[in-house]
Amino acid sequence: MINPEYVEMLNHKDVIFELAAYANKRRAEVGPDNVFDFSLGGPSVPSPEKLHTVMKKLLEEEDAFSKHGYTSEGGLPETRAKIAEDLNQRFGSQFKGENIFMTCAANSALAHCLRAVTVPDEKILTFAPCFSEYEVYVKGTGCELVIVPAREDLSINFEEAEKMLDDKVGAVLINSPNNPSGLIYDTETIKKLADLLEQKSAEFGKTIYLVSDEPYREIVFAGTDSPFISNYYDNTLIAYSFSKSLSLPGERIGYAAVNPKAENADIIVSTFAQISRQTGHNGAPVIWQRVLAEVLPCTSDLSVYEKNANLLYDALTGYGFEIVKPGGTFYMMPKIPGGDSDAFMKKALDNDIIVVPGDGFLCPGYFRLAYCVPTERVERSLERFANLI
Ligand code: PLP
Repeated sequence: MINPEYVEMLNHKDVIFELAAYANKRRAEVGPDNVFDFSLGGPSVPSPEKLHTVMKKLLEEEDAFSKHGYTSEGGLPETRAKIAEDLNQRFGSQFKGENIFMTCAANSALAHCLRAVTVPDEKILTFAPCFSEYEVYVKGTGCELVIVPAREDLSINFEEAEKMLDDKVGAVLINSPNNPSGLIYDTETIKKLADLLEQKSAEFGKTIYLVSDEPYREIVFAGTDSPFISNYYDNTLIAYSFSKSLSLPGERIGYAAVNPKAENADIIVSTFAQISRQTGHNGAPVIWQRVLAEVLPCTSDLSVYEKNANLLYDALTGYGFEIVKPGGTFYMMPKIPGGDSDAFMKKALDNDIIVVPGDGFLCPGYFRLAYCVPTERVERSLERFANLI
């Protein structure tokens, strides 16, 4: 029998991919230069040359086994140690290689983290606006995703969070820098969240773990306060991906990290190995682990995202759009002028501007603009945005 749960999921439209497909159709009709596709969140800058040089060198080595063999459960010790060392140098943390578990990017890291610290029928609490895939990720754990609605300025609504954080909550999931808003929770916000989690953990007599989804950690704009979340709450698990920082989304490489001060940190990492088996994950690509061991710390040139953010923010607010200025990522979430989402989306499509309505990010009344596109395209799009207000 075909699992009806998955069959039912086929009914849920993937709006982003539908819009991207529409953009492709329009490119064929009116020419690629006349379509302004801000729908997909894929990096627009190349990976660092160094990555390819190291990859070529590794592929030319004699010993095939070391290139393609199984690794130990958490990945190559040298890669895990290198990641721990990099985190400690940049953030003053105390990770060891054993606290790092290599995964197939953030999606897989989240699958491990969320399963490790919850049991089916618990709740996982997150904050709107949030990544549209969270619903599916959480479904696989057997838990219920509960979403704290955002404030008007898209910040965390702590009054609501306090009410919703009941004794059924096993884990809290946050994403900063945030997809879809581009907002970064500042130090004061993270301290407030940590205090709330400490208080509720004590009240309910259980550890509420914080799962911090950080694929955009390296895309932070000048002057933005971007705390390293795990430093403020010991019971933190990090889901990280090199998809955005090294422009490698199709290669599926990242890691789950457990704060060494977290309660039962060692057991959590050990359970990751069991979760890997159960989820059919069984290890991250070894060749990329070897590349990382040689190139870290290193990122793509991410500066174009800030340039695009500033161009769009200045121009669109000048036209009258209301936008909370992004502190990082390659997203921003302007308010829909007049509030009529359907009418606005139609007008945008009529102008060949492809953006994503906020509903899928649990933030109706806003739209997501993914500005991971060449700057010249951003510049040419501006007058079209002027038509939309
Ligand atoms: N979490 C967030 C907030 C994302 O935006 C994404 C991808 O866009 C992911 C997780 C999944 O990342 P990856 O494709 O690297 O697994």
